[in-house]
Order: sequence, then structure tokens, then C-alpha cells
Amino acid sequence: MLSMIPRRVPQASAGEAARPATPRRGALEGAARPSAVDADALAFHRECLVLDLHIDTLLWVRLLGYDLARPHRNRLPYSPFAWHFDLERAALGGLKSCVFGLVINPREVRPELMLPLRFLAWWEQGERGSGLPQTLETIDLLSRAAAANPSRISFCKSGSELRQAVAAGRFAGLAALEGAQGIEGRLEDVRTAYERGLRMLGLVHFQATEAAYPMTVPAFDDVGLTPFGIELIAEMERLGMVVDLAHVNARGIDDALRVMKRSFVVSHTACRALVEHSRNLDDAQIRRIADGGGVVGIAFGNTFVKGDLSGFLDHVEHGIRVGGADAIALGSDFDGMIVPVRGMEDVTVYPRITQGLLARGQPHEIVRKVLGENALRVITEVCG
Ligand SMILES: [Zn+2]
Repeated sequence: MLSMIPRRVPQASAGEAARPATPRRGALEGAARPSAVDADALAFHRECLVLDLHIDTLLWVRLLGYDLARPHRNRLPYSPFAWHFDLERAALGGLKSCVFGLVINPREVRPELMLPLRFLAWWEQGERGSGLPQTLETIDLLSRAAAANPSRISFCKSGSELRQAVAAGRFAGLAALEGAQGIEGRLEDVRTAYERGLRMLGLVHFQATEAAYPMTVPAFDDVGLTPFGIELIAEMERLGMVVDLAHVNARGIDDALRVMKRSFVVSHTACRALVEHSRNLDDAQIRRIADGGGVVGIAFGNTFVKGDLSGFLDHVEHGIRVGGADAIALGSDFDGMIVPVRGMEDVTVYPRITQGLLARGQPHEIVRKVLGENALRVITEVCG
């Protein structure tokens, strides 16, 4: 990963920042061309509110000075890790909004933390390189991107703000924390982050937190949420912040389902019945999550779903069969150190999902829900 980090990319000049959101021809190179999608599917796609529940680009904004508003291109075959998102390609793909995940280093690294995140924690070590200070600083990166490009992107704090921004032609971004290490086991810190604009919080990432244990470490299989995790959920529901159960282990999901009173998400995951992977959900979990008013975002990475776009669509359809049409959404995990499956290399690919689902006989109203309305329903129910 070290060798992949180029020097800081140049910032956009004021003139570039003011440029209208029309995609440049160059942005199409190497990307999925919407022209590969038939006109009817594309027209339908363009009228849908497409919302992705998990995109990690702010990590690269923080590390590399990556500019959301400039067109970028994938640099490596199979487009691993990053360079998946920018506003121009989002416009090409008809992606109107997303939840930006904040990848925050734990203050103390524990043995279970996966290698790239260990490296990240070491690379960013220092006073502001972890915990709440890093959370607030990363939220501010989104505020600054919105302030620098007010006609193109809005930092939204509710579902109604999100819908308004999209109606006005702006990309709508919401901020979410990927793991409670970003609030360091303190309820006052979740309130501070809320005031700064945080509207979703995952209880855990790859390392145990004060709240919960990751599903990726078998040693934690027998423990559920901590007492603090239960308190945190209650405080988030009181504030109007969406609980995200992605990465939470099975016992933790059980505990959360017992105590949660409001809708919630599992922002980026897939179906274990199709791909046996520790980050995926089994059918019984999907059913109970759906019964509890939860929405499951299906990820695009090749560890979650296998093969290509068709493999991804299998997970969407399986999720609908098991959990119902109100329970499934998109949660790409773009820019989250993933290798997307073939044909889903960056944010231009969303029209292909629409075409693929329609071609498989899914009704337009179900496709519209999966593309964004289900995710927006939860955000609006919880955040207003
Ligand atoms: Zn994740």
C-alpha cells in the first residue's frame, strides 16, 4: 500500500471549482459508459434518487488531498482500493447521493486490526491521527468540499435536506463513522460529532471497540454488545443518528435487534448463502434485520460478492427474496480498499445495475427502492 501512495495531488484552482457539473469527455475513459445501457433503462435510472450507503473517499481526501470535485481515473488494473469516486463520474453514473464513511484510527492498535489499517494507524500517528480529533477533522473535510463547490455538493444532515439538495441538482453527502473508536467510548463525544454533522455510526470496524466486537475475528464469536454499546444505541436514537451494524458480530447484531427502537442499516455487506464470507449475513439475519425495519446495503467488492455484475445482482435478488423489497439497498464500499467485481469498477456503473435488475424482471418500483429509496427511508425516519 505504501508504494501506491503518490504525492499529494494538486488542488483544483478556483476556476475549476466553479466549473459546472457537466462530465468531461476524458472522465469516460476506462469507465463504464452509460451508452452501454439501453435508453429506457437509462431514462428511468436518471429519474431515480440513487443513494449509496457506503463510500470511503474521505479517507483519500485526508491522506492524499484527493479532490472530490476533480475528475480522476483508476490507475491500476481491476481498480483496487481507491480512485472510484468523484463528482463528475458520479454524475455520469446517475449517483445522486451517498453516505461517506469516516475511517478513523483507534487510539491504541490491538492485535486483531487488519494489516492495511495497522499501516494507516502508524502512518497517521500523532495527536490528531486517531479517535475524536480525527473524526471531527474528517467531517470537516466534507464541510470544506461542500463549501468549495456549493453548486455541486451539499453536506446534508437529514433525509429532507438530502432530497432537497438532489432536487436542486447537487450531489448530497451524509457523514457516517466506521467504528465507535472514533468516539472513544464517550457519549459526550458522540454528541460533539453529531453537532459537527455526523448522522450515522457503525459500532465497530476491524478492531473491538468500547461498544462492540467485529464479525471478522472468531475469538469474539461469543460476546455481544458491551453495556456501553447498548447505551450508545439509545443515545444515537435519541439524537437522531442512524445505527449501522456493518462489521458487528452475530451476537452483537442479536443484542442490537433486541434493544433498537428505530430503523437502522447494515451499510455494506452481502449474502452468506451465496458467498461464505465472515462479513456477509446469513438468511436468518437478513430476515430478522428486515423484520426490525433495517436496510441492508449490498457491497461491490470481490470478497463480498463474486465474479461480475451478474454475481452482484444475484445478491440483490437473493436479499429481496429473503428480506423483501423494502430491505435491500446499495452499499458499494467504493474507495474502501476493495477490489470491485468485474464491470463495477467505479461510480459510473450504477445504470448497469438498473438495467440488469429490469432485465431480470424486477418491477420498476422495486428497482427504485433498491437504488436509493429504501436507504433514504431509514435516514429520513431517523434524522428527519
Ligand atoms: Zn467497512
